[in-house]
Order: sequence, then structure tokens, then C-alpha cells
Amino acid sequence: MRRPIIAGNWKMNETIDQSLDLVTKLKSEVAEVNDVDIVVCPPFTSLFAVGKAIRGANIFLGAQDIYWEEKGAYTGEVSPGMLTNVGCQYVIIGHSERRHLFGEANQSVNRKVKAALKFDLTPIMCVGERLEERERGVTEGVVREHITRGLEGLSREEVLKMVIAYEPVWAIGTGKTATPDQAQEVHSFIRGLLRELYDEVIASKVRIQYGGSVKPENIFDLMREKDIDGALVGGASLDAKSFAQIVKYER
Ligand code: PEP
Repeated sequence: MRRPIIAGNWKMNETIDQSLDLVTKLKSEVAEVNDVDIVVCPPFTSLFAVGKAIRGANIFLGAQDIYWEEKGAYTGEVSPGMLTNVGCQYVIIGHSERRHLFGEANQSVNRKVKAALKFDLTPIMCVGERLEERERGVTEGVVREHITRGLEGLSREEVLKMVIAYEPVWAIGTGKTATPDQAQEVHSFIRGLLRELYDEVIASKVRIQYGGSVKPENIFDLMREKDIDGALVGGASLDAKSFAQIVKYER
């Protein structure tokens, strides 16, 4: 059985005070949850404060990006050690906004994944096709490329520690969710790919989240699919009640 994992990507939202307000409300909303891994990914500026606020709680801290070098002249970047130092246990890598707005390529996704693992951070590696690619019928080709290049050179032990997030770009922030069938089809393809690249144990153990306009109203049907193990949530994670309802999808 794979343990569900619901992560909130706050993107470039919330000052420190707003972040503390949000996470304090969330903490009380989800206090009794013990069967789901809950992760919040505030902007870099709020990581330290939020990390302190959730110490000892059932919420993990994640960052939204990472750089692969340990230190040096890399203006504007944040190293793996800096993230663990503020209490991060997770890091989102290769989010579609990084790929498409900031030109992040598969090769740098792969370097970031390796750097995160080296520092015991769990990478949440995002993959997914754009609308035009889905319409051209190349969804599986795009996802195959993201996964094979993103995991290049990783041992099976390393891949076991990862989380993969399937996020069709056309569903992110658009209000258009993939149907449970559409999401399941790609999740099952990803699991098959893990079997092909590694083996059955890896394929059956790696958790695969769905992301793209997840809301309290659609989480239950998505989570009923056999290869969907959780969600990466953008917009709805900025409201403590909505995010808590998503976390408590079964209750
Ligand atoms: C995301 O940022 O990863 C995301 C899925 O956003 P939203 O839930 O707003 O579509």
C-alpha cells in the first residue's frame, strides 16, 4: 500500500506573516490526520518561519526549487544544504512553470534531483504535457522524455525515495482538471515506464501525485484511481480550509 501524499505549492504567494497565518490555520484543521503525508511548499522567504511553526506537527516542509551546487557564485540560487538547514524535507523540481516560463530543461531537472537526493531531500519531480502536445497525441512521448531524462543515472534505491507528480500543463491554474480516467491513463503509463526502466518493486512503490486544478470537489474521484497516490495542489492550497478538505478527502 502506498501512503497518500498531498502537497501544497504556494508558488509566489504569501509574505511571512500571511504564511504563518495560513499554516497556523492549516495545522489546526489537519491536526487529527495521521494517514496522509502533508507537505507545504511556501516561497523561499517564508521557509524558515513556516518550518519553525510546524515543528513537531504532522506537516512536512518543502521548497519550490533547488540548485545543484553546494555553494559559490550562483547569484539568486539556493543550495540543497540551505534547504535542509531551514527544515525542508521535500523539494519540487521541474514544475511546469519552471520548465516553460524559465526554460528549465530535463538535464537541469536531473541534476537537481540528484543534488536533492544527496542531501536526503525528497524530490517531487513534475512531468506533464502541454495542451498542444496532448492534441497532437504525443502525451506519452513527452512524459517518457521527462521521466527517462529526469531519472537518468539514478539507482533503484534513489528512485524509491522519490515522488513523481503528473501535472498536465493545460490543467494547471486553469480550473480544467483532467478527468480521473485521463489522469489514471497517464499514471498507469508512468508506472509501466518505471517497470521498464527499473523493476516491479520500483513500479509498485513509487508514489505518483496528480496535479492540475485539484479542489475539494474533485479529489475524491481522483484518489479512487488505482495509480493516483496523492495530489500537488496550487491555488486551493492557499486556503487552509480547502487544502484541509483535500487532505481529508476520505472523511
Ligand atoms: C501546481 O502549481 O502544481 C498546480 C497544480 O496548480 P493548480 O492546483 O492551481 O492548478
